[in-house]
This record gives sequence, structure tokens and C-alpha cells, in this order.
Amino acid sequence: MALKITELCINCDVCEPVCPNLAISQGIEIYEIDPALCTECVGHFDVPQCRAICPVDCIPNDLDHVETQEQLMAKYRHLVGKE
Ligand code: SF4
Ligand code: SF4
Repeated sequence: MALKITELCINCDVCEPVCPNLAISQGIEIYEIDPALCTECVGHFDVPQCRAICPVDCIPNDLDHVETQEQLMAKYRHLVGKE
């Protein structure tokens, strides 16, 4: 599933550049993750890079966008143009 950024975000700017899918952007108040672009880093890394680097642990799973590993891999392949 995609991940999401909660209101605990302190706008520290470190997650945006580590996302391999360019899924993270500055929102009106805090950073946001586009669920259409987030693959939970499947296809690129073993663990979600944004969650690994976030200093305040404010990036939980987005339960509104539940996906299987197979769906995440399919999304990755679509995003990188492999299918
Ligand atoms: Fe980007 Fe990976 Fe975080 Fe999703 S889990 S927003 S793909 S860094
Ligand atoms: Fe917000 Fe965490 Fe990203 Fe920093 S790393 S901008 S606190 S979500």
C-alpha cells in the first residue's frame, strides 16, 4: 500500500529527495505522498526510504490505499515504463 504523511510532519525536507518515484511533494502545510506514485519503494529498495529517514516517524501505512506486493510491483513496472 502507499504510505502517508501525518500532521506530525515537521517539514524537515529530507524525505522528498530520497523518494525514487518522486511521490513526495510539499503540500499546503506539510509534505504529502501521492498514492498513485508511491510503491512503498517496491522495485527500488528493500524498505521505504522516506520512512527510514524521517526523524519524527510520521509516515505510517495509508490504509485507504491498500495494495498487495504484486500490485506494488505492477505499479513500479508501469512507472518505470517496463510494461
Ligand atoms: Fe516514495 Fe518509497 Fe516513501 Fe513511497 S515509500 S513515498 S515510493 S520513498
Ligand atoms: Fe515531514 Fe518526515 Fe518528510 Fe521530514 S522526513 S518532511 S518530518 S515526513
